[in-house]
Amino acid sequence: MEKRNQLYEGKAKKVFATDDPEALVVSYKDDATAFNGLKKGTIAGKGAINNRMTNALMRLLERDGIPTHFLEELSPTETLVKRVTIVPLEVIVRNIAAGSLSKRLGLEEGKPLARPVLEFCYKDDALGDPFVNDSHILAMGWSDEAELAAIRDFALRVNAILREFFRTMGIVLVDFKLEFGRTGGGKLVLADEISPDTCRLWDAETGEKLDKDRFRRDMGGVEAAYREVMRRLAARAAP
Ligand code: UDP
Repeated sequence: MEKRNQLYEGKAKKVFATDDPEALVVSYKDDATAFNGLKKGTIAGKGAINNRMTNALMRLLERDGIPTHFLEELSPTETLVKRVTIVPLEVIVRNIAAGSLSKRLGLEEGKPLARPVLEFCYKDDALGDPFVNDSHILAMGWSDEAELAAIRDFALRVNAILREFFRTMGIVLVDFKLEFGRTGGGKLVLADEISPDTCRLWDAETGEKLDKDRFRRDMGGVEAAYREVMRRLAARAAP
């Protein structure tokens, strides 16, 4: 598949057209940002880790009946995906209180939640991705009732699958962010990435953070943490 013109450059990825109008190439970068772009840096080797990890998890989810945009891994940092229109929502699933939830509700970081919590943010950098609920989403036409029900169902199923998978790697899946898209044929699929950039991952034994919080909070050991997650995943993932 020939990579053609660049369509888009985001904070962590570039997107290219291909000869196939229904397929795009995603190219993962080592660039990292946090706090809505305020903090910038690079994490050496991140692009390849996030690409390979996302693809391994997308394949796992596909096998468990979750439709995704994944088509084919093209290189360590590049993947062919279905062209989709992104639903403009960040879908956040939480198992343990951390980050913005801890701040908002005054919960100690690490407090287990009695059941998974689902949150939506409207994807808009200029507005800082504001928190929204169902009625905002329906009133603004960002999704409809049937699609939103499917998004909820997929997000909770993804949580159950990934939580168990990470557990077998000695990792606690604290929370994560998903994005969904609509294909040309109107089918809802899981899109974007699933990586230490978009998940909070804690070592089950030590509680050590193995994710982007090390970058956000200037904790050091960022590259080593990403490599450790990838090492455990490579040892665990089916070929
Ligand atoms: N997250 C993300 N992109 C965002 C915001 C959040 O991938 O723009 C992920 C984040 O890595 C974490 C989860 O979503 O795993 C919940 O993040 P939270 O709302 O606590 O925000 P944060 O504390 O990261 O600002």
